Amino acid sequence: MTTLKGSCQCGAVQFQIEGDPKWIAHCHCLDCRRATGAAFSTYVGVEKENVKFPAGTPSIYSSSKGVKRSFCSDCGSPIAYQGERWPSEIHFFVGLFERAEDLVPQEQVYESEKLPWLHIVTEAPVA
Ligand SMILES: [Zn+2]
Ligand SMILES: [Zn+2]
Repeated sequence: MTTLKGSCQCGAVQFQIEGDPKWIAHCHCLDCRRATGAAFSTYVGVEKENVKFPAGTPSIYSSSKGVKRSFCSDCGSPIAYQGERWPSEIHFFVGLFERAEDLVPQEQVYESEKLPWLHIVTEAPVA
């Protein structure tokens, strides 16, 4: 069975997930943009019951009704999103995973809020 591991930037919060992700998707919404500071967010959706935190406990911020965003209180890395709409799931940020290169997104949501220049990102000249 697959085990996925990840951590925040400083390593104080470490998580481990048994089994494959349910889904992997980009979110373009403004809330996620403000919460992360990044142009868009890529989430790995997993079942809560498959998640363990071998080290540390993420801090939680309620960013809107029914939404909890967790982060490392030592280094500030965003860790995950939990929403009432998906009560059994935790949505981890893809960049935290040890093997993020293997976690290929299959879909995107809130396309209507997408930054209009995003399509040029991978075509921009390498500086
Ligand atoms: Zn940290
Ligand atoms: Zn979002």
